[in-house]
Amino acid sequence: MSHEDLSPATRVVALGRQHRMPGAGVNAPLEFSSTYVADGPVNYARGGNPTWSAFEEALGSLEGGDALVFASGMAAVAAAFSLVDHGAVVVAPRSAYSGTVATLLNAERDGRFEVRWVDTADTAATIVALQGADLVWFESPSNPLLEVADLPALAAAARAHDVISVCDNTFATPLVQQPLALGVDVVVHSVTKYLSGHSDLILGATVTGQTERGAALRERLAHHRLLGGAIAGPMETWLALRGLRTLHVRLERATANARELASRLSTHPAVDTVRYPGFGAIVSIEVPGGADGAERVAAATELWTHSTSLGGVESQLERRRRHAAEPTSVPDQLLRLSVGIEDVDDLWADLDRALRG
Ligand SMILES: *Cc1c(COP(=O)(O)O)cnc(C)c1O
Repeated sequence: MSHEDLSPATRVVALGRQHRMPGAGVNAPLEFSSTYVADGPVNYARGGNPTWSAFEEALGSLEGGDALVFASGMAAVAAAFSLVDHGAVVVAPRSAYSGTVATLLNAERDGRFEVRWVDTADTAATIVALQGADLVWFESPSNPLLEVADLPALAAAARAHDVISVCDNTFATPLVQQPLALGVDVVVHSVTKYLSGHSDLILGATVTGQTERGAALRERLAHHRLLGGAIAGPMETWLALRGLRTLHVRLERATANARELASRLSTHPAVDTVRYPGFGAIVSIEVPGGADGAERVAAATELWTHSTSLGGVESQLERRRRHAAEPTSVPDQLLRLSVGIEDVDDLWADLDRALRG
């Protein structure tokens, strides 16, 4: 049975297992070895280990490509930017994960990149910016404004202009969107979020297509990982794979909760704006009273945790602009809700009470 015939719900469970033989463990080994007996597939653990391979097999299959695990989402982001040289022209969204935006602002300030800031939800404007560019960055839906880019149209335009396209797929996850199949060259993940799903580790990944172009990009990303040297620990990778096993059921439940909450919030008297793209489990809301109003709501919840990050089984909320690095395109009074898998009525009761102050 080829794994391409299996549904994603089965693949998250079935892939990245040990070869079946009598006495073999059902899970991938967690191996703490820095070096290996000569002449095997791996020599030294900065280049690979069996736990990485198991996780990469599972994630690669879900995204339809070849995955590489990195020490964090930001390490994967940095690896993707290493694909272009000093002086490169990068087309990037004005609104995206603050760490990615900060990386680009630094590169712009240092003269490493010329950055063309665009609204990637504006397909025509983004295509105009691709002329003469080297790399284009997508994050769809974006963090935390939940803007959606027309990936098939934009990836095709990038290919036509010979621009490397990268998509941060952290919010959608491969169960909702597979950017490689839509024509994107490189997928980036913060595995910290939905893929691992329990707020207990930091990890990242890239995925490239199984084409000649994809293989060449993978080679360069692997080289960056090997020589950059800030690699993923086997323990984190093993935990991430364990978390990945339940991605399908977690996301199903969290999405059902998010849909219900987005709908109830849209008529709540203490909510001005609700952003929800119709899929996934992140909902962003704007509340009256500016930054203070939003801070009051975040401080008043008891079940929802006021904390950064997202994608865990537990519900979290955060006023993103409390971070100085958050782009000013994000409203001061915006709260990002990462909806977990708890009972939706318990989540609603806590949120409703906090909103009513
Ligand atoms: C969190 C996040 C990152 C960074 O990932 P880390 O694992 O925290 O390094 C990148 N992109 C998006 C969309 C994120 O939400």
